[in-house]
Amino acid sequence: MVKISLPSGDTKEYSNKISVLEVAKSISPTLAKKAVFATVDQVDRPLNFVIEQDSNLILHTKEEQVSLNSLRATTAFFLGKAIKTFNSEAVLGDNNFSEDGFYYDSDIATGQISVDQLGEITDLMGKELSTKAELTSVYMSVTEAIDHFKDNEYKVGILKELKNDHVYLNSWNGFDDFSLVPLDVNYEQIKHFKLLYVAGAYFLGKSSNKMFQRVAGTAFFNQNDLDEDEKRREIARSHDHRVLGQQLDLFFVDPKIGAGLPYWLPKGATIRRIIERYIIDKEVADGYEHVYTPVLANLDLYKTSGHWDHYREDMFPPMDMGDGELLELRPMNCPSHIEIYKHKPRSYRDLPLRIAELGMMHRYEKSGALSGLQRVREMTLNDGHTFVSLDQIQDEFKKVLKLMMEVYHDFDIKDYKFRLSYRDKANTEKYFDDDEMWNRSQAMLKGAMDDLGLDYYEAEGEAAFYGPKLDVQTKTALGNEETMSTIQLDFMQPERFELTYVGADGEDHRPIMIHRGIVGTMERFVSYLTEIYMGAFPTWLSPVQIDIIPVNNDLHRAYAEKLAEDFRKSGLRVQTDLRKEKMNYKIRESQTQKIPYTLIVGDKESESGNVTVRRYGQEAQDTMTEAEFIQMIRSDIANYSRE
Ligand code: ATP
Ligand code: ZN
Repeated sequence: MVKISLPSGDTKEYSNKISVLEVAKSISPTLAKKAVFATVDQVDRPLNFVIEQDSNLILHTKEEQVSLNSLRATTAFFLGKAIKTFNSEAVLGDNNFSEDGFYYDSDIATGQISVDQLGEITDLMGKELSTKAELTSVYMSVTEAIDHFKDNEYKVGILKELKNDHVYLNSWNGFDDFSLVPLDVNYEQIKHFKLLYVAGAYFLGKSSNKMFQRVAGTAFFNQNDLDEDEKRREIARSHDHRVLGQQLDLFFVDPKIGAGLPYWLPKGATIRRIIERYIIDKEVADGYEHVYTPVLANLDLYKTSGHWDHYREDMFPPMDMGDGELLELRPMNCPSHIEIYKHKPRSYRDLPLRIAELGMMHRYEKSGALSGLQRVREMTLNDGHTFVSLDQIQDEFKKVLKLMMEVYHDFDIKDYKFRLSYRDKANTEKYFDDDEMWNRSQAMLKGAMDDLGLDYYEAEGEAAFYGPKLDVQTKTALGNEETMSTIQLDFMQPERFELTYVGADGEDHRPIMIHRGIVGTMERFVSYLTEIYMGAFPTWLSPVQIDIIPVNNDLHRAYAEKLAEDFRKSGLRVQTDLRKEKMNYKIRESQTQKIPYTLIVGDKESESGNVTVRRYGQEAQDTMTEAEFIQMIRSDIANYSRE
C-alpha cells in the first residue's frame, strides 16, 4: 500500500507503487494534462517518477512559473541536442532557463550558427521531438554527475561551480545532459517556442573565460503567450540603439571598413560633444586636471604595467616598426597617466592628484561580442586617475561617488545597480597573485560602501587584473547587463612603476591609485542614453533642438531664416525645413526625428514677430514672442529638463 497526502489535506491510497503521472490521472484527467512536474517529499521530480512509499505530493501545473522553468529547461535540452546534430564538433557548455526564456552556450571553433540558421535548428528540434523517444530526468548528486560528464570539461566546470548538491540527469535517444530542475518528460507541451538570437557569452559568465556562442529562445505553454511575448520584444527593439542610431542618423559601423570601429555622424557627434563638455566642466569643478596623452606607446610601458601579462588577450598585437621598436595601442589609459605623475617629483601637498582625460583606447573584443556603440574596439573613456595617500582613499572614493550621482541625476538615469567586483582567487593567470593586497583593497571598498549605506551585490572574477572595482551596472534594451561607471582601487601599478611622493615626514611613500570612469566610454554611454530616451534626447542633448517649418516656403522663408539666425546666435541648434513638401508631412518628420521643438511660422507669426511652438510628443500648440520662446528653451537646457 502507498498512501499519498495532497496539499488539500486529502489522501489517496494505491495498492502498488505508482508514477506521479498515474496519481495525477487518478485525481482528474484534466489535472494530468496540465501537470508538468511534482514535488514529492520536498524533492522535485519528473512526472514519470515512481512513488514507492507513503509520501506528500504537490503537483505543479502549467499555470505556475516553476512549471514554465521546467518547460524551458526541457526546450533547452532539445536545443542542445539539435546543436550537436547541426555541428557535431560543437562542445556543449551551459544552458539554463530564465525569467524570459532559455539559452544554450557551446564552444564552436568553426561553423558557428548564424541567425539565418536558427530556422534549421528549430526544424532539427522538431524532428527530434517527433521521434517520440522516451525522456527521463533522474535526480542525481552533483558528485555522481561530475563523474558521469567527466569527458566534457565544461560540464564538469559548471557542475563544480554549482551551489546545489543535486541535479537532474536527462537522457533521450542516447543523448545525456543535466539540468537544475526536472524536465517536463511529457514534452508534448513543447510546441510554442521560438529561437530568438545568437550572441557571445563568456563561459560561466566571467569575462576572464573563453567566449562561447549562445543560442537563445523562449517558450510558453500556449501560442497566445508566445505572441504576446513577441509584441513585447517588438517594443524592446524600438528601444535598441542600433535601430535608433540608424533612424536618427547618429552613427554607423561597417565591418568592411572595420568591425567595432564606429563612425560618428554629425548628429551623434553633437550629442557626444555636449556630453564631453558637460563632464569636463564637472571634473574641472571637482579639482581634476585634464591632459592629452598618445594612444600609442612603446610596448615596454605595458610590460611594466602588467597589461602585457594579464590583459594581452584584449590587446591589439604590437606594431613592429622594423627598427627594433614595438609600438602598442593602449587598452587602458592608466600607464599614460602614471607617466604624467612620474614626470615631476611629487609631495604630499600634491595629493590627491587628479589626472583626467577623454582617453581613446583600443581593445580587441571578440567579433561575436561587438554590438553597435555598446561594445566596440576603439573607444574613448571619460577616464580619471587619482593618486592618493592611504588615509585619503575613503574621502576620495566618496567624492567620486557623489560626482557620479550628480551626473546620473542630470541625465535622469535611475535604473542601475552597484556591483562590487572581486578577483577570482583560482585565476592566477589573470589576477596578480598577492593575497594580502587583494584582501585589503576588497575590504576597503566594501567598507566604504557599507559606510555609505548603499546597496550592492558582489561578484567574483569581475575585478580588474590590478584591483577590485565598484561597478555601476545598467541594462541594455535587449536586457543584457553592462558596466557603465566604475571606481577601482589599485595598489599594484604604483608598486610596479615605483611611484613615490615625499611625505610630511620627509620620507618617500607609495601613493595608491583610484581609477574611475564616470560616464564610462562615450560609445557605451551614448548607446545607453539612446535606449533609455528611445531616441528622444532632452533638449540640452538633442542634436537639433528646433525645427522651423514655414507654412509656405515662398511667403515665409525670410521670417523662418531670420528666426534661425537669431536662434543660432543664441547658441541653439536649429534647422529650417525648406523642402518642397507639405507642411503636415514636415511636422510628422519632425516628430519622427524626435526634435524637441517644432516651430510653425505663417502669416500670423511673421506679421506679429511671434512663433507657434509645438513640443515633441504633444498635440497642443502655443503662440508666444520670439524672446519668450528663447527664454523657455534656455531654461529647459539649463535644467537638463526631460519634459
Ligand atoms: P567590460 O566588463 O564591459 O568588458 P571592463 O570591466 O573591461 O568592461 P573597464 O576596464 O572597467 O571595463 O573599462 C571602463 C569602462 O569602459 C567600462 O565601465 C565601460 O563603460 C567601458 N567599456 C569597456 N569595454 C568597452 C567596449 N568594448 N566598448 C565600449 N565601452 C567599453
Ligand atoms: Zn585606469
